[in-house]
Amino acid sequence: MSKTAKSVWNNCLLFIKDNIQPQAYKTWFEPIVAVKLTDNALSIQVPSKFFYEWLEEHYVKILKVALTKELGETAKLVYIIKMENTYGNKQPFTEKIPSSHRTAVKSQDVDIPLNNKSRELKNPFIIPGIRNVKIESQLNPNYSFENFLEGDSNRLARSAGLAVASKPGGTSFNPLLIFGHVGLGKTHLAHAIGVDIKDKYPEKTVLYISAEKFTQQYIEAVKKNNRNDFIHFYQIIDVLIIDDVQFLSGKSGTQDVFFHIFNHLHQNGKQVVLTSDKAPVDMQDIEQRLLSRFKWGLSAELQNPDFETRVSILKNKLYRDGVIMPDDIVDYIAKNIKSNVRELEGAIISLIAQSSFNKKEVTLDLARVIVEKFVKNTKREVSIDYIQKVVSDYFQMDIETLQSKTRKRHIVQARQLAMFFAKKFTKASLASIGSQIGKRDHATVLHACKTVDNLSSTDKQFRKYVEDITKKLSI
Ligand code: ADP
Ligand code: MG
Repeated sequence: MSKTAKSVWNNCLLFIKDNIQPQAYKTWFEPIVAVKLTDNALSIQVPSKFFYEWLEEHYVKILKVALTKELGETAKLVYIIKMENTYGNKQPFTEKIPSSHRTAVKSQDVDIPLNNKSRELKNPFIIPGIRNVKIESQLNPNYSFENFLEGDSNRLARSAGLAVASKPGGTSFNPLLIFGHVGLGKTHLAHAIGVDIKDKYPEKTVLYISAEKFTQQYIEAVKKNNRNDFIHFYQIIDVLIIDDVQFLSGKSGTQDVFFHIFNHLHQNGKQVVLTSDKAPVDMQDIEQRLLSRFKWGLSAELQNPDFETRVSILKNKLYRDGVIMPDDIVDYIAKNIKSNVRELEGAIISLIAQSSFNKKEVTLDLARVIVEKFVKNTKREVSIDYIQKVVSDYFQMDIETLQSKTRKRHIVQARQLAMFFAKKFTKASLASIGSQIGKRDHATVLHACKTVDNLSSTDKQFRKYVEDITKKLSI
């Protein structure tokens, strides 16, 4: 018998490599070391407990097939988990431990799947109850550069994205922060960068994740005492794309962990791409050290697309959907929906739906009705004027009073509430809110938001105001 642990494992790797994505191979199989072969049991060393669970969750089948090919039906696989916290530990090679004992070493027979209940899922991408969720890149291939139409409004961000995609980690755009109002293409562009990188560098580990999901995963990890595994997972990524980082505001634990991950990636020449609905200067409750990191690279803004770009976006969408629509209707929509590409597309989609559903022809009149609906909805949802009206109605005062310079307490409170809701329900910057609500500066608005936060947690009556107005604004 000339088989050694190494030779058996190398053969397994050849087989596995042929059967899974190169990225997954690199991430999950290259770091494994074959340690020993006794009878029909191959022991492999994996870098962490998290790693072991990931393999069990996702690759146990292929591991079994590969190993059976090499060692026959009685093949067994033994995981040896390298302890991260033991320095210079020279004896991680224990084989058997009581199964109830949670320690760093586990042996596992491949053909008996682990009992799900006794095992915590450390892979932050596993949604409990849903099996076989793959890590992959979480990228949406429909969001490409090709269908991200260029215009003055997005030229800088788009070309920076292209530059990053052709040389991830190798440009001065690291991190690349794409910011802009809702519906202007941040998520699309973020995916496009990832998709392009995967295309050019299939071996790179790319990961797209929303800041919200990242936060949830982090909270879960902390709950389960896996903080280190969580960090480890993110530190092995080559291109990390985090969408909507403004979501991290006020969440200091998540900010802290992200700070460490960011530093590690950056120091190792890995690319970080971030999106946000505001410029770094307008971000609230984000730690200074993190904000300063955001500014290391390039912040590129997505602005409202100009008329020509809006027309091309619409035409491109129609073309891709195989729909023909008269130019005057396309122009009409493009003229009237100006500040949100998602709504632009939404209007076209509902126009097509309406006309096919009611077997009506697409007419300018129909377009008018639909556009009006879209424009009205947004106005009510986002306008600071509307918020001021609702707040002043609620306190039975007029808007001029609300905006006035008076220091009377109930008027000051109403004004602060208006500012607070403007911050909460619109994407306007502090400065712009201030200028629209009685010509105040951004510090006043910031102070107002903090005051409302404080009062609503200490003052019952005040909390009721907040709740009532929230209801009125969300109907
Ligand atoms: P955000 O993340 O900024 O809110 P999204 O990326 O979700 O915006 O974009 C909203 C919609 O508009 C998506 O369907 C996206 O494909 C589309 N879109 C935005 N900008 C463009 C563009 N320049 N070209 C084509 N489609 C665009
Ligand atoms: Mg988005």
